[in-house]
Amino acid sequence: MTNVTRVGFIGLGIMGQPMALNVLRAGYPLTVWNRTPEKAKPLLAEGATWADSPAEVARASEIIITIVGDTPDVEEVILGPQGIIHGARPGAVVIDMSTISPHATMRIAARLAEQGIDMLDAPVSGGDIGAREGTLSIMVGGKPEVFERCLPLFRAMGKRITHVGPNGAGQFTKLVNQIIVVGNTLAMAEGLVFAAKAGLDLERVLEAVSAGAAGSWMLTHRGPQIIEGDFRPGFTVRLQQKDVRLVLEAAREMSVPLPGTSLIHQLYHAVEARGLHEEGNHALVKALEWLAGVEARKRSGEQS
Ligand code: NAP
Repeated sequence: MTNVTRVGFIGLGIMGQPMALNVLRAGYPLTVWNRTPEKAKPLLAEGATWADSPAEVARASEIIITIVGDTPDVEEVILGPQGIIHGARPGAVVIDMSTISPHATMRIAARLAEQGIDMLDAPVSGGDIGAREGTLSIMVGGKPEVFERCLPLFRAMGKRITHVGPNGAGQFTKLVNQIIVVGNTLAMAEGLVFAAKAGLDLERVLEAVSAGAAGSWMLTHRGPQIIEGDFRPGFTVRLQQKDVRLVLEAAREMSVPLPGTSLIHQLYHAVEARGLHEEGNHALVKALEWLAGVEARKRSGEQS
């Protein structure tokens, strides 16, 4: 299949690399840039073109996707000295798929609009697994007609693609998602630590509870990792804390009390205090394990 729309991709981390591969495999001509160039190698091997800066990517593309880290990183690659704004033509679309501040998103979109460049905020949920499998949930803010134009491209990366409102609405929706995700993570962590203290077989416990009302994406995907002692990240503690901070900042501006989310932010500080920023967000369980004096791991040599 060959698509004619020329796409640019900036940010080839845990999420960006597999998402860019899916765009390429859907037949879009793809130009890429990443701060650490080595991470572009799998893309270049499949036919993507390298550009030397975000501005160069924009010069070669009609739609430019960014998925980097935090708000200042997005500002850097879009508005910075080598940023997209210096290469994009009027009529181009910038799709930011990072999770950042909704208010900053609105400011970036307004700045791009001054040059006739459209923007969509399109943060994602579904983790590294969803990125690889092309099954991400994508929450999109921006003009409806720009959303329609980009829908075929979103379909190369995601399954549930929802236009939720104007610029900023995508990011607000993602923060709703994060409130629920960290709540599920804490519930899973407390459940597993409780089970370990009760001396239960944790594999059996997961099997028993994950298909019922206690089931969640987190329990299905990260529960087995926890009991195996596998804390490799799909989503790092560092980025999880960034998102919880974004939630709490937005909540403060709107005077919304979020007592559960605030508590989880503090518990993650305990994980950070031991230098575990780069572990997966399911390492939240360790904070509970330290408090309870037990590890929620399956017994070695146990038959399943
Ligand atoms: P990651 O593996 O740390 O990758 C971050 C990417 O952004 C890397 O390519 C990094 O470049 C680049 N980057 C960071 N700061 C930059 C800057 N100032 N200038 C240029 N490039 C910069 O993170 P990730 O897990 O892919 O997450 C990326 C975004 O997606 C974040 O906003 C995150 O919140 C969101 N997200 C992640 C997940 C997940 O499960 N991982 C799920 C949903 C949403 P280098 O390669 O040079 O470091």
